[in-house]
Amino acid sequence: MTNQPLAAQLEPIFEHLHNNSEISWKETETTAYLVNLLRKEGLEPQTFDNMTGLYVDIGKGTPTVGFRTDIDALWQEVDGEFQANHSCGHDGHMTVALGVIFLLKELEPTLSGAVRILFQPAEEKAQGAKAFVEQGVVDPLQFLFGAHVRPLIELEDGTYAPALYHGAAKLFTGEIHGIEAHGARPEQGANAIEAAAALIDGLKRIWISPAESASIKMTQIKAGGTSTNIIPGSASFSIDARAQTNETMDVLTAGFEKAVEAVSTLYDVSIDYQVDAHIVAAQVDDTAKSLLQQAIINVAGEENCAPEVITPGGEDFHFYTYSKPQLQTTMLGLGCGVTPGLHHPNMTFNQKRLPTGAEIITQALVLALQQTKKEAIQNDSI
Ligand SMILES: [Zn+2]
Ligand SMILES: [Zn+2]
Repeated sequence: MTNQPLAAQLEPIFEHLHNNSEISWKETETTAYLVNLLRKEGLEPQTFDNMTGLYVDIGKGTPTVGFRTDIDALWQEVDGEFQANHSCGHDGHMTVALGVIFLLKELEPTLSGAVRILFQPAEEKAQGAKAFVEQGVVDPLQFLFGAHVRPLIELEDGTYAPALYHGAAKLFTGEIHGIEAHGARPEQGANAIEAAAALIDGLKRIWISPAESASIKMTQIKAGGTSTNIIPGSASFSIDARAQTNETMDVLTAGFEKAVEAVSTLYDVSIDYQVDAHIVAAQVDDTAKSLLQQAIINVAGEENCAPEVITPGGEDFHFYTYSKPQLQTTMLGLGCGVTPGLHHPNMTFNQKRLPTGAEIITQALVLALQQTKKEAIQNDSI
């Protein structure tokens, strides 16, 4: 059952956020709009001098549980024109967060603690979570929940999952430095293309258990000029690595480093590289997941509680747990019939699921507050 008054309250908010999308680190109007809305609710949103985004606390005392939404859109071609576009559903996640705030405001007198709501910028660049960690935004928290709308192929419309197992991704770029030589004098050169080919072969020698899903491959190679009779001395390359767990990503990284070392020695070249992006895999906490599962059952019924979703996509939400392992986290999978798919320029979804998402997250936060209280009492009595 949809909460009709909440749905009516959220509808124009979603419309506004959807029609005023802004890309990563440029979410200034979005931040201002949210701050204004929250102040009208009598809350005190906290912003930053050097970046977009905000957070707000509801309840009494130091917050111990939180919900994070992302706020950025993508830059892409929509109907022949490049523009900022909310094709990852972050407009929906913000709407859910505001719904949570409205519901928590009603519950405030009975809340057994405080809740922090995070409006995080730059998720699409995998930089916002890191920035929030550096600003200490999650320092007081024990539980942190997230949410993401899911495509139809992963979750049926109107069903909800208590965890999203995103994979890890790492992007490397690098340069191979050999020695240029005349095509007739190969003994005087160190051919960068041959070294790159050996590096590709080296990547194929990284062994991962067939039970794990992982892949590492070269995605760019640039070498050689316009002359066909010159052995090229330098090449630039990029490598894309994917793994379902952080441990498997560590194996891929170590294998790549070993291949670089071996090729450098064998081919008499030097190879420099850097990590351009690193998105960590989900590390879902069992308690957080069971609290969220309970919330789904309470709000949407057992029949609409779906199993956890395993997805090869990435999410910078998981950086919170990666950098603060004591933080107990999970993400709600919101089945709302996303079609044709996330990041598709014409992506649409069933907005009627947003109020239900807000009710589920609110329930999960209340249950998590009770859990922290229970643990505090147990620790006191030890
Ligand atoms: Zn996205
Ligand atoms: Zn997203």
